[in-house]
Parts: sequence; C-alpha cells; structure tokens
Amino acid sequence: SPYIANPTRYTNMPYQRCGNSGVKLPKLSLGLWQNFGSSDSYENGRELIHTAFDHGITHFDLANNYGPTYGAAESTFGRILKQDLLPYRDELFISSKAGYDMWPGPYGDGGSRKYLVASCDQSLKRTGLDYFDVFYHHRMDSETPLEETMQALDYMVRSGRALYVGISNYRPAETKQAVQILKELGTPLLIHQPRYNMFDRWIEAGLTDVLNSEGIGSIVFSPLAQGLLTNKYLQGIPQDSRAARSEIIHLNKEHITPEKLVIVNKLNNLAKKRGQSLAQMAIAWTLHNDAVTTCLIGASKKEQILDSLQALENLTFVNSEILQINNILNN
Ligand code: NDP
Repeated sequence: SPYIANPTRYTNMPYQRCGNSGVKLPKLSLGLWQNFGSSDSYENGRELIHTAFDHGITHFDLANNYGPTYGAAESTFGRILKQDLLPYRDELFISSKAGYDMWPGPYGDGGSRKYLVASCDQSLKRTGLDYFDVFYHHRMDSETPLEETMQALDYMVRSGRALYVGISNYRPAETKQAVQILKELGTPLLIHQPRYNMFDRWIEAGLTDVLNSEGIGSIVFSPLAQGLLTNKYLQGIPQDSRAARSEIIHLNKEHITPEKLVIVNKLNNLAKKRGQSLAQMAIAWTLHNDAVTTCLIGASKKEQILDSLQALENLTFVNSEILQINNILNN
C-alpha cells in the first residue's frame, strides 16, 4: 500500500538551529549504520524510516560503507525513498560520508579529493538522490593535506552534490583548522559528528568549546553506547540484540563487563526515579550539553524509536541528578 506520512508528524518534535546556520534539525535523528544491510529485512527497515518520519524525525544519516555489504544501506534507503518518500524529499535532510575504507586500491580510503568526489558520486547513484543535504569527511586523514580535503568538500557544494558540509571524528585542533580553511573557501562548516554518550565524554575536553565559539552545530552518534545504555543487557544478552549478532564486530560480549553492568544498573535506577527508561535518560543527557544540536540514534525495531522519542518529554536535569550521574560514572 502507498505510504502517506502522518499529518501530525510536526506537532511534538522540537527543531533546533544547527550552530549559526539557517538550518534546523530535529532533536532526534536516525542513523542507518546497522539494520539496513543486504541481509536485513527490507520491510523492517522501511517501517523504521516510516516510524521516524511520522514522528518528525526529518534527518537520516548514511555513509558510503554502511551495510553490510558496503553501500547496502544507501541502496536500501534509495529503494525506500523511491517507493515512499520522494514526494517528501524537501521535508528531508539526508547526509552521507566518505573517509573510511570503501573500495580496494589507493583511491578508496582516506581524504583525497580523488576518493571523496568519486565516493560521493557513487553514493548519489545508490540513493538515487540529486544531492545530499550534508556531505561529510568521515574521519581525519593525516596523510592528506587538510586543505585538499576541505577543497574537496567545498567542491561538493559548488558542483551541486551537497548543500552543506560536515566533518566527523575530527579532534579539537583539527576541527579549528578545518573551520578556518572552509571559511576562507566560502563554504562554512555546518556540523561536526562525534561519538558522545555517558561512557565516552571526549568531546567535553576541548571540542565543545571549539564548536560553541565557532558557531558550529553537532550531531552526536551512539548516544546509547550501541545499546549498552539501555536496560536490555541487565538480565543477560538477548538473542536479538546487537551484542549477540556475530557478524557485527562493534559492540560485542567482551564490552558488557560486570563492572559496566553495575554502572548501567545504577543509571537505570536513576532513570526510573526520573520516570524514564534508561535509553530515554541517556538520550536526554546528550541533549543536555549545549553544544549538541541533535542526538543520532540507531534502531533495530520500531518500538525502540517510539521509546527513544519519549526522551523528549523530559530533557531537563536538576543539578543533583547531573552530580549523581557523574558520581556513578566515576566510581
Ligand atoms: P545507539 O547508541 O543509539 O545504538 C543503537 C542500538 O541500540 C540499536 O540498534 C538497538 O540495538 C539499541 N537500541 C536503540 N534504541 C533502544 C531502546 N529504546 N531500547 C533498547 N535498545 C535500544 O547508536 P548507533 O551506535 O547505532 O549509532 C547511531 C548512528 O550514528 C549510526 O546509525 C550512524 O548513522 C552514526 N554513527 C556514526 C559514526 C561515525 O563515525 N560518524 C560511527 C557510528 C555510528 P539492538 O540491535 O540491540 O536492538
């Protein structure tokens, strides 16, 4: 049956300006790193995208090598777009990236203009899009002059392949340099995409200062530490969880240590006192950082998106809660 977007999709989602730019992003965004691969269920992926968009999640995050196999998430998204979302293209904000390994040989990885332009063209073809709303360099490549990588991003915009540019995983000093180069080129940096969650607070040591002082927005990934910051692992490792799926090398059984679970349990109790699930508190906690524009979640089931959306009902933390969280994390 044809998809018709929920007419009330814009009633509850808050939209936040991305740095000093003209663009607003939903407080929650959805990433397609996992669950949109070639062996994942197409109908499930489709349902995830519908559920998100029906609730005001207008921003979807891709990269060239999301899968498995590489490219598969973009192809899946392209199929959903064609089947359901093309009438809504101007209501969507879609990103992709290049920077990690994508194809064999010297031009399929890194930060060269050669790699980035070719990869962007492949990504456009796979998704069927005319342009990306934002195109990222996925990680800093110390072997390529930063000027070359930034010139490639500037070229993406000038050639109509992207409307805005972003960088991901860049450290504070590199970020500052990138901001400066892009400013001189006339294509201001829109956004930075770093990892940020209660177990990984590296951005607080320098990056958020750079972003705030330069007026750059941010979209933070793995806010749930890939599912660890939820109540799902407190009673063992469920069969249908990311940690149990052997093909995935990222979150695995070794990460779920007894020490971590003690912390997760304490955080879960605090979340309960706030009337939230731990997933909701973990999301709200990332958004509490004033350098964060939007929180980039992943999901394997539509119920998880619905659960995570309820984080928006309580985004405030009193000081004593922030202190309690710090204490739990530091012990
Ligand atoms: P999360 O930390 O949000 O982890 C998502 C996973 O947690 C889900 O797939 C699901 O796993 C579980 N989960 C989600 N919601 C709930 C819930 N409400 N209750 C219980 N469990 C839940 O984010 P990701 O690590 O998936 O990253 C999100 C996005 O960030 C990616 O899709 C990608 O777009 C981007 N990213 C960017 C990177 C970069 O280098 N720029 C690197 C990594 C990610 P399960 O399978 O167990 O159900």
